[in-house]
Amino acid sequence: MAEFIVLGAGMVGIGAALALQARGHAVTVLDRSAPGTETSHGNAGVIQAEAVEPYAIPRDLATLFSYATGQSNDVLWHLRDLPAVAPALWRYFRHSAPARHAVLSKGYAPLVLSATADHAPLIAASESEALIRRTGLGELYRTARALDAAAANAERMRDRYGLGSEVLTGSALAEAEPALNGPLAGMLLWTDSWSSSDPGALTRAYADLFLARGGRVLTGDATSLTETGSGWTVESSEGPVEASDVVVALGPWSPDLLAPLGYRIHMIWKRGYHGHFNAPTPLNRPCLDDANGIVMSSMTRGLRITTGAELVGRNAPRTLRQLERGQRAARELLDLGAPVPDSTWHGHRPCLPDMLPLVGAAPRHRGLWFDFGHGHQGFTLGPTTGRLLADIVEGQTDAVTAALSPALRGV
Ligand SMILES: Cc1cc2nc3c(=O)[nH]c(=O)nc-3n(C[C@H](O)[C@H](O)[C@H](O)COP(=O)(O)OP(=O)(O)OC[C@H]3O[C@@H](n4cnc5c(N)ncnc54)[C@H](O)[C@@H]3O)c2cc1C
Repeated sequence: MAEFIVLGAGMVGIGAALALQARGHAVTVLDRSAPGTETSHGNAGVIQAEAVEPYAIPRDLATLFSYATGQSNDVLWHLRDLPAVAPALWRYFRHSAPARHAVLSKGYAPLVLSATADHAPLIAASESEALIRRTGLGELYRTARALDAAAANAERMRDRYGLGSEVLTGSALAEAEPALNGPLAGMLLWTDSWSSSDPGALTRAYADLFLARGGRVLTGDATSLTETGSGWTVESSEGPVEASDVVVALGPWSPDLLAPLGYRIHMIWKRGYHGHFNAPTPLNRPCLDDANGIVMSSMTRGLRITTGAELVGRNAPRTLRQLERGQRAARELLDLGAPVPDSTWHGHRPCLPDMLPLVGAAPRHRGLWFDFGHGHQGFTLGPTTGRLLADIVEGQTDAVTAALSPALRGV
């Protein structure tokens, strides 16, 4: 069995490490910080069974106009960053054409549809049940028109993918979410989605499971990776680590590692922010305020608000504009309470223009494997793409793995 180094200890790297370990490989995970402390910590914590169709750039002029003029809180862009982000965005726009998006959704849906089933044994084995809610994901709508449109879409999703949903209004909504007291037409509840009250802690619990099963987690800088005659070596705080095979699971930082090896990855870093608040009444499930591009979810540190996408260079200065606007919107819907001090964060959804993660063999290097680019759903998909990567390593390929293949996608 090959020896693997997995670079990156987010949900994706830990998911891959557990899957490779389960197939009998000796696996070392290397990260510059502790597991689950970056993007896999800061997200909205939804295991998104409903997200079977990847998020495309909308094509209707009204939405594009609201993005361009800064009216929508979903997307924020800056003239300063436009030259850097425009080439990847243009590719993303082209992949968002309806016919192309339909093809990409065929590749994406099987991944998302197996995500809760792939998390379930890890939740059980890591004894993480207390971090999990199986109460769905709520989408909140302020007008009857928007709620009706969401309900019609949910019916289409039920017919096409078998996804469960309910529409809650009036007393049913009040019973489901006593914290909500604002001007709402209702909630579209996706019943199959799960969520975590602490996504970083869940990632760390999976990392502890990996350790308990005999894995190693070391501290080190992945950019020290070098190719040797027989494989790869990387520097760690415990000295050099050698292996025949390496998995790149560095999320938003994956392109940095791969550029010197000759792989140009067009990544769109969709920055998101979070902040926590001392809301007196918790929400029973994550709730998306559709009109304001925020998700509100009760977490260990308080009620977490996460924002939509800020299109920036990864090292651009932070602007709390979307979070402040989201906070004002949230206060219309519930008693948010005071902000929890020092609890704001930002990170980047590692999005690829064709909206699918890259999973499989690097086209031009022996023993180098990709598992990154999970965009909006890496917390959902880490265990699933880990399992698929382990299949690919064993030579098991099919239509699902072909859709993710770096070689077939021209990397
Ligand atoms: C605001 C927001 C909300 C989101 N909500 C959801 C959600 O509800 N559901 C969902 O499924 N997804 C969500 N996502 C997306 C999800 O968080 C990401 O897709 C996922 O966390 C990516 O996981 P990862 O393991 O690839 O990356 P990360 O978790 O970022 O892990 C990458 C690791 O690489 C390490 N690293 C980087 N460079 C080096 C180096 N040179 N040397 C060593 N280590 C290095 C980092 O320390 C880090 O631990 C959200 C994202 C954001 C920003």
